[in-house]
Amino acid sequence: MATDLTYKIEIRGIVQGVGFRPFLHMLVSAYGLCGRVRNTSDGVELYLTGDRERVDVLLAALRENPPPLARIESVALTQTDLPPFTDFRIEESRTLSHRHALISPDVGICADCVRELLDPNDRRYRYPFINCTHCGPRFTIIRDVPYDRANTTMADFPMCEACAKEYGDITNRRYHAQPDCCAACGPQTFFLDAAGARTEGDAIENARTYLKAGRIVAVKGLGGIHLACDAYDEAAVKTLRARKQRDERPFALMCRDLNAARALCTVSDAAAALLKNPARPIVLLPKRDPFLLPYCSENDDLGVMLPYTPLHVLLMGTDTDALVMTSANLSDRPILYKNEDALAALAGVADGFLLHDRDIHVCCDDSLLSVVAGKPYFIRRSRGYAPAPVTLPAGADGLLACGAEQKASFALSRGADAFLSQHIGDLKNFETLEHYTRQIAHFERLFDIVPQGLVCDLHPDYLSTAFARERASAAGLPLYYAQHHHAHMASCMADNGLTTPCIGVIWDGAGYGTDGTIWGGEILFGDYAGFTRAGSIRPIPLAGGDRAVKEIYRVGAALLKDIQAPLPDGCDADKYAAMDSVLKAGVNCPRASSIGRLFDGVYALLTGRETVSYEGQAAVLLETMAREADEGYPVCIAEENGLRLFDTRPMLAEMLKQKRAGAAAGLIAGRFIRTLADMAVELCVRVRADTGCKDVVLSGGVFLNRKLLPQVIAGLAKKGFAVYHHQRASTNDEGIALGQLMIGAAQRDKDGKRQ
Ligand code: ZN
Ligand code: ZN
Ligand code: FE
Repeated sequence: MATDLTYKIEIRGIVQGVGFRPFLHMLVSAYGLCGRVRNTSDGVELYLTGDRERVDVLLAALRENPPPLARIESVALTQTDLPPFTDFRIEESRTLSHRHALISPDVGICADCVRELLDPNDRRYRYPFINCTHCGPRFTIIRDVPYDRANTTMADFPMCEACAKEYGDITNRRYHAQPDCCAACGPQTFFLDAAGARTEGDAIENARTYLKAGRIVAVKGLGGIHLACDAYDEAAVKTLRARKQRDERPFALMCRDLNAARALCTVSDAAAALLKNPARPIVLLPKRDPFLLPYCSENDDLGVMLPYTPLHVLLMGTDTDALVMTSANLSDRPILYKNEDALAALAGVADGFLLHDRDIHVCCDDSLLSVVAGKPYFIRRSRGYAPAPVTLPAGADGLLACGAEQKASFALSRGADAFLSQHIGDLKNFETLEHYTRQIAHFERLFDIVPQGLVCDLHPDYLSTAFARERASAAGLPLYYAQHHHAHMASCMADNGLTTPCIGVIWDGAGYGTDGTIWGGEILFGDYAGFTRAGSIRPIPLAGGDRAVKEIYRVGAALLKDIQAPLPDGCDADKYAAMDSVLKAGVNCPRASSIGRLFDGVYALLTGRETVSYEGQAAVLLETMAREADEGYPVCIAEENGLRLFDTRPMLAEMLKQKRAGAAAGLIAGRFIRTLADMAVELCVRVRADTGCKDVVLSGGVFLNRKLLPQVIAGLAKKGFAVYHHQRASTNDEGIALGQLMIGAAQRDKDGKRQ
């Protein structure tokens, strides 16, 4: 007969805040074993008394079928001399010096909680903070590890007797649910009018009354405060736009349920699954009719999410189909998340405030994804995903990657785990920079990472570069520089687990090149350790530098001057003539080999539009109007000093000739996109001829374009390439930090070998 010994089992991964210990309790009971379990700052520590075979079967079952939200990274078993346990209990958490626990992202409300929320006989009927072991706030309320109520913003709300009973009852679905609460003991909502005075009556009903009357309400949610109004009320949405001074950027919507989303958009099965994912991201969906809700989005798609907190479920009720739900922030500052800040900053913007007294410790914007080839494709990886780690193809231990500047993010590495920050914003204002540095400190504490080196962009003027330089020199740490497009490429390689040299098609708006000029239409060849620039596009002089990003006619004028073609209809002759002389003088006309700028210039010439209100708008509008084209314009590749350059001139000349002949702008736009895809294929074929490499990674903000991306993928696949796009990180600058980690690790290796 086998002797019963006591084993210690250490489990690491996302094992806290996901119902792991209750799950273990049930599993252990089912196997008739005894022992103890507790959370540590490393993960979960389990002691089991029993014969080894039975213990192994139990652990196999656990690995096979963990609780739905858990992610087991490792299970380590050791034999102990402890006396046998005779029962099973959950013990107090223990704080270790090393913190290896993973922290769960926030989880959207589960179906069981929705059912109870709407059940008049349930004791939490209409209680807006209902949650359970499988849903509710996590990352945004956690102040410290281990994940226990005392270390969250729920610490201010001691459990009532009824809640405490559930919490301690193994058969209850709130067993050890840290944020468990009810109306008697938990947080409360309240509604304030425009003047900040509390109103009588039910807070959520008051908010609903305001929304129905076409007013704008600030709503405190999970990761921050939204501004909400009825999405079908054109006047209300336009008022919101005016008050928020929000240019023409699309607003996200919250739809009551899938049917309400289907009334507006085509929802594929993959999109429906993503909408209902526990992360509850905003999903970009094609409009049913391109003219639906044009005041919410001028494009042919809408960003839609489903209610993800009980408060949202109650706010939508049974009669509100869709609300605009846009992050409450002013002029590109971080999302507001404190009551007092919201009241001050949104005076004159919101007509009412639906707030509550549970603090948000960490603000976290909604995530934004689209569906590409049936799979989720990140545009913004934030609430519901952060701070779950992305596994790296090779260790990059102990590095802090500082990201880019717009769509700033950072990443910390521990072993093969990369912890990517939530959405931070554009680092140009003081508040965002402060938010960025605060979040870095918070992540370092939560994950117990003391960086041994820093990685930053090559751009001398990025604030993230300045931050990295200061910190590295203050702490005496090595600083590694990663060229912007190399980092994009490394990011897509790491994202797909690639470790051997690749060809990178890296297209974006702007990044600092190794020659000091602006790059953005790059074909690179290399790996994490280094790269060569194998191809690019004919540089475009930007009259007035950065001004050309918003005043896109400046780019149009440069393209036109380059081919000496007559001014297209719709373009302002005086403005173009003025630009012509600026370009001739050549003062403050930096050259940019950027696909993003090429989109801007082409859009300006096709439509006569002179300015855009945000970067990338012209590309989105051009994508919207483009019709599918089977044939592109001529692809002409020139060679300059060993660098292959796509010569834009034959394409532009042909394009404008067609326009003069009266061809529809949508047709020309479609052929332009096709030409870019052809050009990518042509350049990759040439690089393959030199290098024999058949793996191509696609990265950079231009690959958010959902007409261009599939054409590039299909074109390359047809030529026998293995093509990879992003799966777990964003293709835009938010994804840069992931690539920086790998580049930093490779440089550190090289330095180590040299010594
Ligand atoms: Zn639940
Ligand atoms: Zn209670
Ligand atoms: Fe970029």
